[in-house]
Amino acid sequence: MYDVIIIGSGIVGACVAHYLVPYNLKILLLEKNNEVASGVTKANSAIIHPGYDPKPGTLKARLNVEGNKLYEELTKTLNIPFKRTGSLTVALNEEEEKELINLHERGKVNGVETYLISGDEARKREPNLSDNIRMALYAPTTGILAPWDVVFAVLENAIVNGLELRLNNEVKSITKENDLFKVTTNQGEYLSKYVINAAGLHAIDITKMVSTPDYEMVYTRGQYYLLDRDTNFVESVIYPTPTKLGKGILIVPTIHGNILLGPTSETVPSATNDEVTKDGLKYVKDNVNKMAKNVPYEHVIREFSGVRPKTNAGDFIIRELDDVPGFIELAGIESPGLSAAPAIGIMVRDMILAKVDAKLKENYKIRPFKRQMIMEKTPEEINELVKKNPKYGKIICRCEHITEGEIIDAINGPLKINTIDGIKRYLRPGAGRCQGGFCQVLVLDIIARETGMRKLDILLNNQGSNILAAEKGGAKND
Ligand SMILES: Cc1cc2nc3c(=O)[nH]c(=O)nc-3n(C[C@H](O)[C@H](O)[C@H](O)COP(=O)(O)OP(=O)(O)OC[C@H]3O[C@@H](n4cnc5c(N)ncnc54)[C@H](O)[C@@H]3O)c2cc1C
Repeated sequence: MYDVIIIGSGIVGACVAHYLVPYNLKILLLEKNNEVASGVTKANSAIIHPGYDPKPGTLKARLNVEGNKLYEELTKTLNIPFKRTGSLTVALNEEEEKELINLHERGKVNGVETYLISGDEARKREPNLSDNIRMALYAPTTGILAPWDVVFAVLENAIVNGLELRLNNEVKSITKENDLFKVTTNQGEYLSKYVINAAGLHAIDITKMVSTPDYEMVYTRGQYYLLDRDTNFVESVIYPTPTKLGKGILIVPTIHGNILLGPTSETVPSATNDEVTKDGLKYVKDNVNKMAKNVPYEHVIREFSGVRPKTNAGDFIIRELDDVPGFIELAGIESPGLSAAPAIGIMVRDMILAKVDAKLKENYKIRPFKRQMIMEKTPEEINELVKKNPKYGKIICRCEHITEGEIIDAINGPLKINTIDGIKRYLRPGAGRCQGGFCQVLVLDIIARETGMRKLDILLNNQGSNILAAEKGGAKND
């Protein structure tokens, strides 16, 4: 029996786990997929927004600003790469200038530092900005990170401190009897005093298992171009002036040195509509070209999209259901959900602690993220590592310089990652220019060797995504 079951291992479920794990509570995290951070958290703009934009007084405004501050400590404590790049929100005409002035005032109400600067000052900071930019709003607290890094680091720490994680466990039904929830998945039944629904795009489906949602989903797709690393096109995040539709098409440097262009904002029929379309990508280009010159489109290495778990409620939905005490619903966690996630984690922790008398664990000990990134080390450090283990000297991914030693560590780490995409997100083999053309098969071999799995059973990501159809002269997949 558990004290708390969390459904969903995205950034929100992970942050809730992070802030609950120091307490003497038995916690189970259920995830339907093969890997953590494989929902909305894997495909977004990866910006820790400053928080001047959300409407004052909303949960989005409060939790965005708090979350932005909390990332400072969270990333330092757990050793997660994070950079405060700052951002420029640009105005191309008089109307947009007026809107920037409004946003500057809104920033004051939300408690966010912003500065209005001229177009020339903006171009001094970012020489590739368009000559048509007349004014910009500079926000120094905007940051960037890899959202899945946060999930990996937080959950590795949580697991060594007692969290139970069960992957491939899709919640199918929830019932409540005698103050206990029975959560049934495709793998088994689990009893718990509290249930936290952090199922992202599917939070509404989980809520329907116990109650009647009073909101509707408005699934909204965002399409992107990803540029190769080291174009150095921009240093800071570039936002257009926002409209009713949202933040608009952005230019975003990533923590790994790539550039993201996007996302679109298109209502789609379902959570699975994550296609990339010709029209969507044209819209991205047209809008980027309004804000910037010399855009290095020749360095595009990938196009992708993500779907926002937006609802018609207009704000995050974070509450204990009145008709189902003990069931905490986290729905509509669209942007700025990544930025707000640590603050959501603390808010939910406090909701649970208000109900149970849980003490801090005596043996709780922070475990900083232990991932080795060979490419980021000095030649001397690399030599030392290679002396201890020559596998740290064997490059598997040529684009991102990822070694066999790092891949073996990921497979044998607390999260026991064993899919191609899981390893790619954890370390980046396959995330570079060739997109796995050279290294995918090598990574597959290493996973098979280290785990003892049949090569035929190794998946790209979810069930049914087997990479190989047949082994030469041997077994076959259907
Ligand atoms: C295009 C786009 C751009 C964005 N840009 C930003 C940004 O720059 N900054 C920002 O702050 N926010 C941004 N966001 C929002 C942010 O990405 C989300 O708010 C955040 O990732 C939501 O995390 P989550 O944990 O709630 O959901 P998810 O990451 O989707 O996690 C939910 C998990 O629940 C699992 N699950 C679902 N159903 C079940 C079930 N039945 N049983 C078990 N498990 C289940 C899923 O598999 C998934 O792993 C963006 C979103 C999009 C789509």
